Amino acid sequence: MINDVCLAIVYDKDNRYSANALIAAVESRNPGLHVARIPLYKSFDVIQQIIDLNKYCKRVIVGFSFMTPQILVVRELVRLVKLYAPNSLLVAGGPHASGDPLGTLTKLGFDVVVYGEGEDTINDIIKSYSDSGEYRVCGTAYLDGDKVYIRRRTKPVDLDSYPPFPYWRGAVNPIEIMRGCSSACFFCQVTYTFGRPRYRSVETVVKYARISIEKGLRDLRFIAPNSLGYGSPDGVKPNHEMLYSLLSKLHTMASENGGRIFFGTFPSEIRPDSVDTESADMLRRFADNRRVIIGAQSGSNKVLKMIHRGHSIEDVENAINILSEEGFAIDVDLIFGFPFEDENDFEETLAFMKRMEDKNVRYHLHTFIPLPGTPFSDLEAKPLSPEKKALLAKFIGRGKAYGYWMEQERISAMIRWLKQNRVIYSLNDNLKRSKISVC
Ligand code: SF4
Repeated sequence: MINDVCLAIVYDKDNRYSANALIAAVESRNPGLHVARIPLYKSFDVIQQIIDLNKYCKRVIVGFSFMTPQILVVRELVRLVKLYAPNSLLVAGGPHASGDPLGTLTKLGFDVVVYGEGEDTINDIIKSYSDSGEYRVCGTAYLDGDKVYIRRRTKPVDLDSYPPFPYWRGAVNPIEIMRGCSSACFFCQVTYTFGRPRYRSVETVVKYARISIEKGLRDLRFIAPNSLGYGSPDGVKPNHEMLYSLLSKLHTMASENGGRIFFGTFPSEIRPDSVDTESADMLRRFADNRRVIIGAQSGSNKVLKMIHRGHSIEDVENAINILSEEGFAIDVDLIFGFPFEDENDFEETLAFMKRMEDKNVRYHLHTFIPLPGTPFSDLEAKPLSPEKKALLAKFIGRGKAYGYWMEQERISAMIRWLKQNRVIYSLNDNLKRSKISVC
């Protein structure tokens, strides 16, 4: 039998949850559609499966969901798909593609970019491409002459209208309870890709948590830019009523069914200014984890201001004090290598780290990465000197710090090289070459 249209989703392990969300959105709306799920780093499988799909589907859509560090692998795969399965429609999605549509279309070779969140747009592409061969629908970016046309959706995805994962395939993973963020930190892609915060309703979260346990998952985890901001109008100031409703219902359901609740920890975290005694108390009563993650990012108020965090180091210390009094161990995210971070800022961060060390705190170390689509995308990371690295390494030696900060330093250098070689375009280039409309 020849299918009208088939879809292959190529994903990396780091974004498997968003790939699962996309597959769930497509399969829940298009029963009978053939959807293949292919890991990015199995290049031969990617090409082979796409060639096979082209044999029994009239039209094949290949969706790549990827992030900035994977773009060289993605570029090579796109070249191979064009060579061996040239009739495939190549669709790029995710924060990199939305942050640099110009580079994604002209240098990586995609036909179209899903601009922003993907669920509604990919379903519209499937329908329109299957009906008429047209793929330039609302929510996409595409080339026309030397201009990138961006048709930005005004209506955000309603999280309740899609399942968070394709559980009918046996695939369950952390449940996305919140999407978007109002904080707009200048180094982070979340606000610039997904806009303001929205929430999956308590009833829907509990429903999929129950399904997860039925499918064999015991430890339930949740995806949110700021877990304690659940249900809050601005995503920051805690909405105690909504938080209570979510946590108490999840706790009751999990206790009755042999599950455990992990909240405010991997793969999400907590903003320090969302921690108050009431929210921390709820966390202690209803969640099973006794370790949480808070995003501090710097010990210097000057740096916090420059990165547009919207909180101070005093807020961070207040949050650590409240959480440690409630009995939590705390992982604290810190980012080094902003180009404007001077000696004094580093000293202030180091002093903060020493001050808080006896509070059952561990530091999660990062290096600044200038991500496409953010206000800092055109900055360059400033590598730490060997002396500063040695000072941080002492925390690691004492078991008080960990992280991929050295690997991230390498990724920052790679991005600099890709920009110099114009594989990634700057925000300014994108703005100059784009025509933006809303739909
Ligand atoms: S609060 Fe977190 S998710 Fe929101 S913009 Fe800042 S870093 Fe990103």
